[in-house]
Amino acid sequence: MIVRLEEEVVNRIAAGEVVQRPANALKEMLENAIDAGASQIRISAEDGGLKMLRICDNGCGIGEEDLPLLCERFATSKLRKYEDLREIGTFGFRGEALASISHVARLTVVSRRAVDGYARRATYKDGKMVTCSPCAGEPGTTLTVEDLFYNTKTRRRAFLRGSQTEQYGLLLKVASAYAVHYPAVGFVCGKRGATEDLNTMKTSSTEETLRALKKTKKNLVQIGPTTERDDDDLDEDRFECELGGYVGGAEDGWFLLFVNDRLVDNAAIKRAVDEFFPRKTCYLRIEVPKRHVDVNVHPTKKEVQLLHESRVLALLRRELHKLQEERPMSEEEGVSE
Ligand code: ADP
Ligand code: MG
Repeated sequence: MIVRLEEEVVNRIAAGEVVQRPANALKEMLENAIDAGASQIRISAEDGGLKMLRICDNGCGIGEEDLPLLCERFATSKLRKYEDLREIGTFGFRGEALASISHVARLTVVSRRAVDGYARRATYKDGKMVTCSPCAGEPGTTLTVEDLFYNTKTRRRAFLRGSQTEQYGLLLKVASAYAVHYPAVGFVCGKRGATEDLNTMKTSSTEETLRALKKTKKNLVQIGPTTERDDDDLDEDRFECELGGYVGGAEDGWFLLFVNDRLVDNAAIKRAVDEFFPRKTCYLRIEVPKRHVDVNVHPTKKEVQLLHESRVLALLRRELHKLQEERPMSEEEGVSE
């Protein structure tokens, strides 16, 4: 017999796809903080983010009238019409992240806009606001996620049995990636009550942040930046691409790819880098016209589809080849510096 699933069940299933582990929740909340114009973001975690994950930003804050809708699915301040998706300039667009989190964890928000006299604390469960009251607080937003997967027993058990150190490592990796890509934003990340493992408050450039994080003084070389554009072509789908980054340092295979400021995965691009600089640390940023990227292919927005992937790959290969010719990266020689 076919029956319609209850909305509650549908929402929880969907939520489980968006939030598969603490690091997914963190990525979403970091993007929200950046969308909110934050220049300072602090992350603190307990038990790899399973017991507690807190993100505190100094961004624009959330007004009282928006709090009831905050965790409702498909409620967003960023998208109005489907057509806007083509030129979307924010990370978020479908109002799914906080809704999802509220379906698989206990969520508390403390937020204040600069114009407000005080902050408000609101708690959420299954997409709905449960409580809301005034409290003291600085301008900005603090989100606290507690007891992740408390209502999905199997997943919680699997996580609790697994390594929380590994989950924390993934949190730190996501935070570090954004710290590299957003050097003007100060990032702090640590386990609750412990000294922080990431603190980029004082570093000012991507290169410095990358060097500091990788504790590497040598062997880091710059990729590009380079731009390629088919000027004679008048088609709005004509190829256009800018890419840049750094490669070298430790042989730890830390591969960071940002496409139009989104942290994403792309196997073909990673393979291309590996062909030239196997296992090296690599930070790569690629910018293409917004309409050339489909960000809507995956619930976690982790995979993006590029309209001209083969052209992007060719441009990347050309740059990497040039680098290899100019500065052969042999272990003894140590290039750069
Ligand atoms: P989306 O980012 O797709 O809009 P989210 O569920 O991530 O969906 O967030 C819902 C809404 O909550 C956002 O559109 C934004 O208005 C607000 N919001 C979330 N996080 C923050 C934050 N850190 N600062 C200010 N506003 C926020
Ligand atoms: Mg969002």
